Amino acid sequence: MQEKGSISIHTENIFPVIKKFLYSDNEIFLRELVSNAVDASQKIKRLSSLGQFNGEVGELVVDVKFDEAAKTITISDNGIGMTAEEIKKYINQIAFSGATEFMEKFKEANDANEIIGRFGLGFYSAFMVADRVEIDSLSYQDGAEPAHWTCDGSTSYEISEGTRTTRGTDVILHVNADSEEFLNKFKLQQILDKYAKFLPVPIRFGTKTTSEPDGEDEEGKPKYKSIEVDNFINNTNPAWTKSPSELTDEDYLAFYRELYPQSMDEPLFWIHLNVDYPFNLTGILYFPKIKNELEIQRNKIKLYSRQVFITDEVKDIVPEFLMLLHGVIDSPDIPLNVSRSFLQADGNVKKINNYITKKVADKLQEIFKSDRKGFEEKWKDIGLFIKYGMLSDEKFAEKANEFCLLENTNKESYTLKEYYEKVKDIQVDKDGNIVYLYSSDVAQQDGFITTAIAKGYDVLVLDGPLDTHITSYLEQKGGEKIQLKRVDSDVIDKLIQKDEKIELILTEEESKKATDLFQKAINRTDMNVQIEALKADELPVSVTLDEFMRRMKDMAKTGGGMGFYGNIPDNYKVSVNGNHPLVKRMLESGEEEGQKLAKQAFDLALLSRGLLTGADLTSFVKRSVEMI
Ligand code: ADP
Repeated sequence: MQEKGSISIHTENIFPVIKKFLYSDNEIFLRELVSNAVDASQKIKRLSSLGQFNGEVGELVVDVKFDEAAKTITISDNGIGMTAEEIKKYINQIAFSGATEFMEKFKEANDANEIIGRFGLGFYSAFMVADRVEIDSLSYQDGAEPAHWTCDGSTSYEISEGTRTTRGTDVILHVNADSEEFLNKFKLQQILDKYAKFLPVPIRFGTKTTSEPDGEDEEGKPKYKSIEVDNFINNTNPAWTKSPSELTDEDYLAFYRELYPQSMDEPLFWIHLNVDYPFNLTGILYFPKIKNELEIQRNKIKLYSRQVFITDEVKDIVPEFLMLLHGVIDSPDIPLNVSRSFLQADGNVKKINNYITKKVADKLQEIFKSDRKGFEEKWKDIGLFIKYGMLSDEKFAEKANEFCLLENTNKESYTLKEYYEKVKDIQVDKDGNIVYLYSSDVAQQDGFITTAIAKGYDVLVLDGPLDTHITSYLEQKGGEKIQLKRVDSDVIDKLIQKDEKIELILTEEESKKATDLFQKAINRTDMNVQIEALKADELPVSVTLDEFMRRMKDMAKTGGGMGFYGNIPDNYKVSVNGNHPLVKRMLESGEEEGQKLAKQAFDLALLSRGLLTGADLTSFVKRSVEMI
């Protein structure tokens, strides 16, 4: 039996085009061929269990071998095999109807993956790295003859009698001159580790050296000897394919280490995903400890389709904020050959997205409810993640509102609702606004915090990288009339303005004089002096930065699109307490002495918020020494 034929594509020069186009991710040839071998192995198992194959299934294994001298890579399986007819049917007829249509779609396709996926070109990806490909196969069917097929990447092939004596298929690649890098143990091992690590049929790649106990030496210490053992690439039964009831915490942690051998930290907790309607999806998502580096932790979720690794760029499958999670998602409903544009258009992907978001929110809620203390302890690791989620995903925010925590300067935690209840009667201003005071830097704003607490107010700590956005979020979504004000953005009685009216004891003329005096003493254009009617026992001078301006500038800094504000210099308000006896004294002293006192009081205010530095600090110290 020998037959020559032509592969049914109608354009002669299509292979060179495909080859060239596919060249960039050419390592996926191995994924495609190994998955075909795994499929063939699983098919024989299925046929046997259905009673359609009565022979011995035996131990199923896929072997990957290479021969550097002969420049070949061989993928062998003992799966169902193919008859010559089947080779002709499955291999020769590339799954598209005509060259015109192919070329049309080819233009739309974005990458090699997509072409392979759209056209069922899995097997043909072999030609990305090979000049010539051979298939040697023996079908499981009774009386089947071995078949041999060879093709040099043009559209003609040759089929003849094969030599295989046992059931299964060998695919032999004659590696081309440009792809000799693949004739390398480390390279192949690395590709197999990436794509085949959790395939359901054992994949063997040569042997490896390990050691084995070998009696004892003269001193009675155990001896070891090196032995060569089969080098199996994969864990055929990874944790996500099991039922959660079979798994202990230790199993989940062990699987995490298997996924990320490099990782030093243990995950905080995990979610086992398992859906079969309206789409199929399994997986395990881990919550890592998240520090402040939102960026570098991305791309840790690995996407699988029936245990074949596809990608770790899950951008369109997993909601943006969940990309901080680690773990595995496996769905046969996501085609093996995914591409960006495909994913964006796919309805299933949207559903998967929503499902994962919901599961994550439910899990967090469950932990919050069942172990609030534990949840609070984890807050510093998961808080950033939850806030990120609330800001970027409304559905998530709806749920997260119930377990998002606010922490005050006493390190007490409250839910949003609890906090509202706590302060709503005390921190209400004359217009009915509920004012949440917060600090972005507890050490630097200590003076302001102490003053606020002395008044019976509470101060939140909002010092995280997303907290500028969270302040706006709380105002918009946190309930009616909530205002957030940083504790140093004005004097306390202005921050929460009550109805009581305090009279200014200075006359209008004295007020003007005091303003002049301070303006001259300070002599800075970025400081606006204001005489205010505060209680006599409040500080004589404080320096504050307007909440609105500061927020706009913060936003500009974190890239919130307020670029214009970023360029405006800071403009501070110098609140002079007109009712403080010191002010009267300044006015009554001579010009020089008055200015000296004003400068001293101003410097103290700067000092209390860490703004007094350099030469100003030196002259302040000198002046203080003189004064005492
Ligand atoms: P796909 O796997 O997407 O169908 P391929 O081009 O990779 O496309 O393979 C085409 C067909 O060839 C497969 O569906 C299968 O029937 C057959 N085939 C490929 N490799 C093997 C193999 N190792 N053993 C048995 N059949 C195979």
